[in-house]
Amino acid sequence: MTNAVSLQSVEMRFGATTAVKSMSLDVRSGEFFSILGPSGCGKTTLLRMVSGFLQPSSGKILINGQDMTHVPANRRPTAMIFQSLALFPLMPVWENIAFGLEVRGVSKAQRRREADRLLELIALPGYGDRMPHELSGGQRQRVAIARALAIEPQVLLLDEPLSALDLKLRQHMRAELRELQKRTGVTFIYITHDQSEALAMSDRIAVMNAGRLQQVGAPIDLYTKPATSFVAEFVGENNIVSGTVVDTFDDYVVLEGIHGRFIGRRGAVLQRNQKARLYVRPEALTLDAEGEDNKLTVVSKRFDFEGSFATAHTVLHHEQSPLNMQVTIPHKKLHQVPEIGSSFTTGFSKQDAVVLAHD
Ligand code: ATP
Repeated sequence: MTNAVSLQSVEMRFGATTAVKSMSLDVRSGEFFSILGPSGCGKTTLLRMVSGFLQPSSGKILINGQDMTHVPANRRPTAMIFQSLALFPLMPVWENIAFGLEVRGVSKAQRRREADRLLELIALPGYGDRMPHELSGGQRQRVAIARALAIEPQVLLLDEPLSALDLKLRQHMRAELRELQKRTGVTFIYITHDQSEALAMSDRIAVMNAGRLQQVGAPIDLYTKPATSFVAEFVGENNIVSGTVVDTFDDYVVLEGIHGRFIGRRGAVLQRNQKARLYVRPEALTLDAEGEDNKLTVVSKRFDFEGSFATAHTVLHHEQSPLNMQVTIPHKKLHQVPEIGSSFTTGFSKQDAVVLAHD
């Protein structure tokens, strides 16, 4: 399989700040690839280097196998969609969509045909003569995407395009964007700091922190097999127990700390006596601890009903350092919810917990 984009030891320095640190990454052709990380970790900088709006301080950028490091933005097979959409307010929708074609000297009749075809693609047929202010936020978003697709990019770069929309619309647009990507086959590189968005939409995700790549993988792999404690803490909810490695056997690690002794999968190279953290998802903790590898007695402090499930916020008692633990209670077990203030024993299997070095 060819790579749509390859970054080879790409670095970007702004004076004393290194926004992207020697990063190597391959994005495959036709995939929906997300770059996920907290604000300021270098996501936009990375995308702007791929688009050609920014020259890397060092390293190479290949697009479809060709070195594009020094090729200007307008001669790259990429298009970029920004956080703020900036449709032209005085131009009807179809002219907005066909703007890039006008710049390329395409005739008006052909531009109109192409705009109408793209309006079908984004499920807004017949909207061509409306003005941008006559559209909803989600519709404007789709028009911005059609405008980017009009120039037939091989790679579409999207910088948090849904961040301005409300939650319901954002969820709807997630599905639409993914569907559109599959239908067009265009490679999407999508930036977000919202882990649930990245998990829901992507074929693969690169998690970044402080200018560095932490892990690249399919959403389920990042969720079930985080490679670093940053990924374990950034992607999804995790309960965290700290301790020292006291034993390792097969693929498992025994961790002992002030909150007890626990066993989990070995998620990284770990030596005896090393400080580490055990991560266990709230949904891996059961109300029937009988027969589990790990057991702990907690006190229920709060209970959040979330519709299809509930979360019990509990505390593992310790004089100096009480430990918060979240336990997911599936809908069918809601009748077993422990009363606030009561103590109960929860547990988890060693396969469902991962132990990682604390970085
Ligand atoms: P956000 O999610 O908030 O948009 P981001 O992950 O996209 O953040 P970047 O915009 O890539 O982060 O910024 C990465 C780092 O580089 C930040 O510390 C930022 O302050 C710095 N930076 C970005 N652009 C410049 C610039 N032109 N000059 C100096 N520093 C910059």
